[in-house]
Amino acid sequence: MEMDVKQMVAWFRHYADVLDDQKALLTELDAAIGDGDHGANMARGWRAVKEGLHEFSGNVGDSFMLVSKTLISKVGGASGPLYGTAFLRMGMAVKGKDAIELSDWPKLLQAASDGIAQRGKVSGGEKTMYDVWKPLSDGLMLRDDFEGEQSLVRWLAQTAAAKAEETKELRATKGRAAYLGERSVGHPDPGAVSTSLLFKSLQSTLAP
Ligand code: ADP
Ligand code: MG
Ligand code: MG
Repeated sequence: MEMDVKQMVAWFRHYADVLDDQKALLTELDAAIGDGDHGANMARGWRAVKEGLHEFSGNVGDSFMLVSKTLISKVGGASGPLYGTAFLRMGMAVKGKDAIELSDWPKLLQAASDGIAQRGKVSGGEKTMYDVWKPLSDGLMLRDDFEGEQSLVRWLAQTAAAKAEETKELRATKGRAAYLGERSVGHPDPGAVSTSLLFKSLQSTLAP
């Protein structure tokens, strides 16, 4: 089984709707350790993605590129260029392909994770979205025992949720939350949570 461009579009539409529903949650998380705009930033960016998809025709690489361009131009906050870079790198990793094969997932996650590390000058344990992307990438590198897309995306969604939760215990050293220092401990990172929702949405699309 593969993930074709129709399923990609369904994933992105679903995530846009999830963000619309979860805007208040993400805003609340960002209000605790940042400036309270992560929900609005993400919902605005992905609403624009959903609109852009009306006229979209292209392959899976192009669909990642559309997301990248839209997020970079529509999301004001730090998260715009970071997610924009992640999607750009994923688009490059499957450039020209009509479908994502099971064996493509490790390189997709690695490309996204490396892109965020470079763009954000971030490493693991700094309480950012990278603390979700990086373990997903590392985990997939170690595993070749998935029976199909469904078991792979279930693992992605479960691991992302667990890693987002674990950011609670971390002290922020990057982004706005770093200003809080020790007081950032006890709150999950908003970008880590929005990343976990992205993979939950992927699971809802491919393995409901
Ligand atoms: P802003 O902080 O500019 O208001 P958002 O609120 O939309 O932007 O996004 C905040 C999220 O961006 C954080 O929760 C964190 O996950 C992520 N982030 C911020 N700075 C970095 C960085 N240098 N590297 C990786 N992720 C970062
Ligand atoms: Mg913010
Ligand atoms: Mg902001």
